[in-house]
Formats: sequence, structure tokens, C-alpha cells
Amino acid sequence: MTETEISTIGEFGLIDRLTKDFPLRQSSTKRGIGDDCAVIDHGAEQTLVTTDLLLEGIHFDLTYVPLKHLGYKAVVVNLSDIYAMGGTPRQITVSLGISKRFTIEHIEQLYSGIYLACEQYGVDLVGGDTSASVTGLLISITAIGTAPADQIIYRSGARDTDLILVSGDLGAAYMGLQLLERERKVAGEVNDKEFQPDFAGREYLLERQLKPEARRDVIEELRKLGVKPTAMMDISDGLSSELLHICKASGVGCRVYEDRIPIDYQTAIMAEELNMNLVTAAMNGGEDYELLFTVPLSDHERVKNMTTAHIIGHITKPDLGAAMITRDETEIALRAQGWNAFE
Ligand code: ADP
Ligand code: MG
Repeated sequence: MTETEISTIGEFGLIDRLTKDFPLRQSSTKRGIGDDCAVIDHGAEQTLVTTDLLLEGIHFDLTYVPLKHLGYKAVVVNLSDIYAMGGTPRQITVSLGISKRFTIEHIEQLYSGIYLACEQYGVDLVGGDTSASVTGLLISITAIGTAPADQIIYRSGARDTDLILVSGDLGAAYMGLQLLERERKVAGEVNDKEFQPDFAGREYLLERQLKPEARRDVIEELRKLGVKPTAMMDISDGLSSELLHICKASGVGCRVYEDRIPIDYQTAIMAEELNMNLVTAAMNGGEDYELLFTVPLSDHERVKNMTTAHIIGHITKPDLGAAMITRDETEIALRAQGWNAFE
């Protein structure tokens, strides 16, 4: 790879190179990059806005995360928040802080991942900001989406007896991270540039950590079934923590069943190898970007055979608190042990 210092083309040259080939796909994008503001016309729908800040050394580690994957994931985690409100993502903005260590080619790799995510989810890149940084790489992405007012799903709508569902499976992204960290340590110890980590049979875990997807398909299936969730959110910090958020926002309690927590077999094998409690990993691992939602009990027939999600428990009156029922039928109070950047 050639390595060209950013100073050779300057900030505007860089912005130009990064953004010149991004097409505009959304009819709501009246003006994208190139003026003082983007102009967006969302017509009658309401606008959803979400933003995420990613700092090198805090949220990502470039010794094992390829820049292209980082760009893809940085977009997807924002789109996931839009889907989690029942919305459709339309536009994103991308802001960067770039230290001297990074060349034009590095930032182009990052943008190739951003490009792919925009293509995959049909969103427009409509702006951003670019600055030098003293140390490391900083990425801030804002996603803008829309939804008809009566279709927006808040965290606060869960009611006693509602069913609780979760999409996909949990804990795999966390296990993928454990795997990457372990291999990095081994690579450091052997200190061999030729070292090739062995990820055979673990592809799913790596994919979940490095290339997560936003669950647009869940929203589509719900729409097809004619089901509108009463509450919904995406799982970024672990199921326990997110269930507590829904319970608190909705003023309810919940019961989820250990034997219903969806876990992939690769996750289970990896947990055993690392001597970790599998259910703890699935409940608290984080970065799953699955959707957690509740539906009225009367929708049971419609959701019981969903292909993208399944029932893991139910909502209760608030005084029962939030708990998991284990396989041997004991009740464990849920605690938010999710990932916390300030710890
Ligand atoms: P301003 O002086 O108004 O901050 P800039 O010169 O920073 O404008 O940016 C010029 C145009 O390029 C604007 O439309 C801005 O939104 C866009 N832009 C700047 N940085 C990025 C980036 N990293 N990715 C995408 N668009 C960007
Ligand atoms: Mg600027």
C-alpha cells in the first residue's frame, strides 16, 4: 500500500477524495455534501436523529480491527438505533479527528467500509467535518431517519403481560472480542511478524464482532405480520441492561427464561474454552445489535413462529421486579453489568 501524508492534499483535498463517489439515493436528500448545510425534506414523516462517538483506545483497537470494518460498523450501529425506533434510516454525517499516524490510504479504507454500509442500507452520506487530532482516530457518526408519527416505537410502551422477544442470538460479538484479544496476546508473545492467528471454525464470532448488521429484516417481518411492538430498543450493552431500561422507562417488571436465551453453538464452545459462564456472556456481553421488543399477549399467534426473533419471557407488574428464571427454576434479579466506558 502506498502511504501518502494527508498534508500533501490538505483537508479539502481529503474531503473531496473521500466523498466524491458517494451517490445520493434518497429522494428526501435535497442537498448533500458541498454547501454549508445538507438540506433534507422529510415531508409528513417525523425525523429520528441519533449519534455515536468512537474514540481509538476506548471504543476500538486498530491492532485487530481493520479500518474498513470499523467504518462499516460505525455506520451500522447508528442505523441500528433508527430501526430500534421503528424508523427507516435515510442520511448520515461522518466527522473525523485524524492524527498524523494516518495516511490518505488509511482514511480511504475507513470510507470504503462507510460506503459499503451506505450501499447496503440505502442511506446517503450528506456531510461531516474533518479535523486534525493530537492522538489517535476519532469518528463521530450521526444518522437521520424517518417514521410516520404513529409507528415510532419508544422504550416506554411495555405493559403487564406483554411478551418479550429478541432477534438473532446473543453473546457472539463479545466472544469474538475475547477471541481477538487472546490472539493478539499470543501474537505479542511469539513476537513473530509472520504469526497467523487461527480463527477456523470461529468465523461467526469474528463476523459478529467485526461486521455486525442492523436488523432491518426484523422490522420488515413485524410489518408483514401486522404487529406493532409496544416497546423496542437495540441491544448494545447486553440484554440484562437493556431489559432494565425498558422496565424502568415503561414502569413494569419482567421475567425472562434462561433456557430461552438464544445462543449460537460457536458462542457456547468459545465460552467453555475460556472458562466463562455462557449465560452471563449472553446476558451481559454487549455489541449484539439485536432488537429487543415487547408485543401485546394478543399477538402471540402472530409472533410465535417469527423467523427473525423469538419469545424469551414476559412483562410483569412493577412490584415483581426484573428477573431471569434459571433452568432449575430459581429467580435471579437482573443487574446491569453491561460494558461501561467509564469503568
Ligand atoms: P464547513 O467549513 O462548513 O465546516 P467543511 O469545509 O468542513 O465545511 O466541509 C465541506 C463539506 O464537506 C460540507 O458539506 C461538509 O458537510 C462535508 N464534509 C466535511 N468533512 C466530511 C467528512 N469527513 N465526511 C463527509 N463529509 C464531510
Ligand atoms: Mg468543517
